[in-house]
Amino acid sequence: MAVVVTGAAGFIGAHLVEALRQAGHEVIGIDRRRSVPKPRYVPLAADLLDGDDDADRALRYADAVFHLAGRPGVRDRGPQVDFWRHRDNVIATARVLELVPPSAPLIVASSSSVYGGSTNGRPCREHDVPRPRGGYATTKIEGEKLCARRAESGGRVIVCRPFTVAGEGQRPDMALAQWIRAVAAGQPIRLLGSSRRSRDITDVRDVVTAMMRLADCAMSGTVNIGTGTAHTLAAVVATVGRVLGRDPHVEIGPAPREDPPATLADISRLRQFTAFTPRTNLHALVERQVRAAIGALANSGLRGGGRVSQPIR
Ligand code: NAD
Repeated sequence: MAVVVTGAAGFIGAHLVEALRQAGHEVIGIDRRRSVPKPRYVPLAADLLDGDDDADRALRYADAVFHLAGRPGVRDRGPQVDFWRHRDNVIATARVLELVPPSAPLIVASSSSVYGGSTNGRPCREHDVPRPRGGYATTKIEGEKLCARRAESGGRVIVCRPFTVAGEGQRPDMALAQWIRAVAAGQPIRLLGSSRRSRDITDVRDVVTAMMRLADCAMSGTVNIGTGTAHTLAAVVATVGRVLGRDPHVEIGPAPREDPPATLADISRLRQFTAFTPRTNLHALVERQVRAAIGALANSGLRGGGRVSQPIR
């Protein structure tokens, strides 16, 4: 099968490209950032809104499309929806919907941020009323509405709502990546809000498996991708410390408006459609991410390369 991945040079996109190649697919990646060609992988360095001939043709003739390109990060600079977020999360999605034929399965990455968090330990369900806390979530809802129109007119589209995704190559702006860098460098972790806040965290490898299974099931709709288990930020910090063999020093900062106190996924629909349950193990996940980050730190000339689970002095 010829499969197109938009956002192929990004954190989740790069893992998805790899998993699709391993499964024997011919993959075309579209991303304005460059990535390296490999057997069964052709990267196209193009912005989705450029009208690039090769990228547009790839989307028109693909057997399946995973649309992951977007401008993520829940924190906003102000209450307004930023122009660039709107461009990359809404207009780029409109462009993809215009090009991909209705018969091709289209898997679109939305986000759990549309829920605005879970309250009183109740997991978020796909039919819950969206309660966006910031511009990022608002643009994801706009993108979902465009996808709903495709589904209403008989086109195949699956909107995924991943909860926090972690693992090797995690975006450097994400909390876990920042904490690992801080602890490895002997600096304090800056934790925003309270350490009792909690997150449903999924291994990126489980996320790409879930997305690939969703592409295979003959349905349209919206599906959470999470684990159904929440970890307190205190537990995540402690795991980072244990893996790195250091006692993290934590500084608490003010809770950002866009960050909900808790997130938790109801994954019954994911299970029902794919018979797949992500079984992320937090310690193993942090260990792999630390190992990769230490490699990157060592390459960038900072101290810290070496064995995991040992003090890195
Ligand atoms: P990422 O920033 O690492 O990857 C996104 C990629 O999209 C980037 O490489 C960027 O260059 C590309 N891109 C953006 N706009 C583009 C455009 N107009 N044309 C071409 N390329 C463009 O992000 P990620 O963490 O891999 O997230 C992938 C998707 O999943 C995003 O849509 C994000 O909103 C969503 N998501 C991520 C998480 C998470 O925890 N990482 C959680 C929920 C949802």
